[in-house]
Amino acid sequence: MKSLEQRIEAHIDELAQYTETPNHGVTRVVYTEQDTLAKEYMKKQMEELGLKIEEDEIGNLFGTWKGTDRKLPQVWTGSHLDAPTHGGKFDGVVGVFGSLEAIRILQQENFKPKHDIILVVFVAEEPTRFGIGCLGSRALTGMIVPADLESWKDKDHISLKEVLLQNGRNPEKVLSEELAPEKIKNFIELHVEQGAVLETEQKEIGIVDDIAAPTDIQLIIHGEQRHAGSTPMSIRKDPMPAAAEVILLVEKLTKNNISETSVGTVGKMVITPGASNVIPEQVELTIDIRDVDANKKKRIITELSKEITTILDERDLSYQFSIKSDDVPSRMNEEVVQFIKKSCEEVGCSAKVMASGAYHDALIMSRRVPANMIFVPSQNGISHAPTEFTATAEIATGIKVLARTLEKLSK
Ligand SMILES: [Zn+2]
Repeated sequence: MKSLEQRIEAHIDELAQYTETPNHGVTRVVYTEQDTLAKEYMKKQMEELGLKIEEDEIGNLFGTWKGTDRKLPQVWTGSHLDAPTHGGKFDGVVGVFGSLEAIRILQQENFKPKHDIILVVFVAEEPTRFGIGCLGSRALTGMIVPADLESWKDKDHISLKEVLLQNGRNPEKVLSEELAPEKIKNFIELHVEQGAVLETEQKEIGIVDDIAAPTDIQLIIHGEQRHAGSTPMSIRKDPMPAAAEVILLVEKLTKNNISETSVGTVGKMVITPGASNVIPEQVELTIDIRDVDANKKKRIITELSKEITTILDERDLSYQFSIKSDDVPSRMNEEVVQFIKKSCEEVGCSAKVMASGAYHDALIMSRRVPANMIFVPSQNGISHAPTEFTATAEIATGIKVLARTLEKLSK
């Protein structure tokens, strides 16, 4: 019989083969052949454990281990199989095969759950194809409206609705798949940290208490396109120095000023026309603000908007400031945080209660049902890159903690 460590390595190697970019990291995009192959592999694994397999209309996969009292609310565990462009071998999959192995541990111990335990594989957690993340969990929590099916498009301008139809799926049915929250006792997701907190503090397990959520802002600053040589400084309407001031403002406002946990990023900038000898006509930039504290995040956005007005008015520049998305941060279920702490003691590993800066399906699920997360360390804090790495022994510890927690939740 294979050891847990051998099984973990076999899953990682097998799943990493399903990539559109062999030798350049794992690229696995929703509704592609590689994504389907990875799902088929997991289906087979779940069948071997005797789980009852179901798939919903958007493509979420469920494996049910029946409990002895099926009227009780279900205990859900899982994560996602899709990967961003040139991503790593660990993001998402650790929580999927980790849930499978946690169930195997409990089965080998002859544990009989009272509650159904459901292994869920969410579809399209990464925003790679449609520019919006967590499609599967959004469908389950009723957060997809009819207009979204038309407006979410991939790089070939094909809408989610069309892609669903191409794949023989019924878009209308996707909209009606919202689950009844009372049917779920708790959702718990094992995941790689994707940061360096655990490694730095030499802790084996992260117990997430808060998940930060992003607010995405688009700022377009309009200037006056003119010659870089013959236009005196005094008469210029140059949007570039204004953009520089805004970028510094984002850093100032999020760097421990209003909130200790806020982060701010200007990750994309489009300069038009973008020539070395031309004063730009327009600069468009994205601003990503995240915090675990919803009120403080709101204060940062308000302050940001006010100070941007001052900066751009002083420079006599017109602009558009639009909030593209505004997700609310979430608190994890406190009782289950205590369960996970206890589980860490039982397994004999160190743990740290911490916030998650990245969002996950657990953030979406937590809007409707109690949800929790267990983190395992990421080497050098690297993720969404081919160099993403977590040691087998660290994953094994995470799986054991998950197994002990599932036991507590389902007995
Ligand atoms: Zn992930």
